[in-house]
Amino acid sequence: ERQKWLDKLKAGLGKTASNISGVFVGAQIDEALYEDLEGALLMSDAGVPATEYVLKELRRKVKDSGITHPVALKNVLTATLTEMLQPLQKPLVIGAQTPTVIMVAGVNGAGKTTSIGKLTKHLADSQATVLLAAADTFRAAAREQLTVWADRNTVEIISQDGADPAAVSFDAVSAGKARGKDVVLIDTAGRLPTQLHLMEELKKIKRVIQKADGTAPHEVLLVIDGNTGQNAVTQVKAFDDALGLTGLIITKLDGTAKGGVLAAIARERPIPVYFIGVGEKLDELETFNAREFAQALLA
Ligand code: GDP
Repeated sequence: ERQKWLDKLKAGLGKTASNISGVFVGAQIDEALYEDLEGALLMSDAGVPATEYVLKELRRKVKDSGITHPVALKNVLTATLTEMLQPLQKPLVIGAQTPTVIMVAGVNGAGKTTSIGKLTKHLADSQATVLLAAADTFRAAAREQLTVWADRNTVEIISQDGADPAAVSFDAVSAGKARGKDVVLIDTAGRLPTQLHLMEELKKIKRVIQKADGTAPHEVLLVIDGNTGQNAVTQVKAFDDALGLTGLIITKLDGTAKGGVLAAIARERPIPVYFIGVGEKLDELETFNAREFAQALLA
C-alpha cells in the first residue's frame, strides 16, 4: 500500500526529481554544479532561504568530508533535505480531549473539502467517531459536497442553510460533546461574499469555538494546494498569523506539483505536515514522512 502511494508521489514529483538529479551527472563537484543545483532548487519552489541554506550546508559538508564525486554529493543532499524536512513530520494525535475539535481552513480549490472527507475516513478507520460541521455556509455547493463525504463515511453532519458560520461551529462543538464524539471536524469557508474579510470571519469562528469549549479548537489545520508554488508560504504565514496553525495538509502532490515548497515551509514557517494528498480518492491521503519525501524529490 505504502509502496503504491510512494510510486504516485514519485510520479508526481518526477519532473523536479529529474531536474535535480541531472545536476549530479558530471565528473566533479564544481561551481557550475552548485549553480545548477541552485537553479533546480529554485525551480522546485524551494524558495530563496531554503535554497541558500541547502547550498551552504552542502559546501560545508563537502569541505568537512572531503568528498569529490557528484554521486556522493547527491547522497549528502538527500540527507540534508531529510534533516530539513524532519521537523514537519509529526502525527496528528487525537483523543487527549473528547471531542478533539479540528478547525480546517484553506482557500477555495485547495482541496479542503476533499481532504476533510479523506481525514474522516482515516479517523473512522482508526475507530474514532466523527461529527462533521459545514461552517462554510456561504456556498451551498460546499455544504452539499461535505454532506456527500459524510454519507460516504456514514458519519453525522451539522449543516444549516444560511446560518452564521460561527453559530454552526458552536452548535457542532456542543453536539459533539453531547453525543460523545471523539472528533468534531469543522469545514470553514475559503472565500466570502466580497464585502467580508475571510481572516476576520475565521478568527470569529475560532473565538466562538473557544466559547463552546474552553480548550478548543485543539487543532487548526490549513489545506494547501501543492501546486501553489511560493505563494503557499505566503498563505501559511497569513493563516498562521491570524489563527495560529497547528498543522498542514498539502494536496495534489500526485499531479504537477514541484514538491520543493515543503523545504520552503520547513525553512520559513515550520508547521507540521500531518498529511499529504496524492489523489482524488477517499484513501489517497498519506502521513508525511521526511525521508520518503526527500527520496522522492531526488529519485
Ligand atoms: P475546496 O474548494 O478547497 O474544498 O476543494 P475541493 O475539495 O473541492 O477540491 C478541489 C479539486 O481538487 C477537486 O477536483 C478535487 O478532486 C481535487 N483534489 C483534492 N485533493 C486532491 C489531491 O490530493 N490530488 C488530486 N489529484 N486532486 C485533488
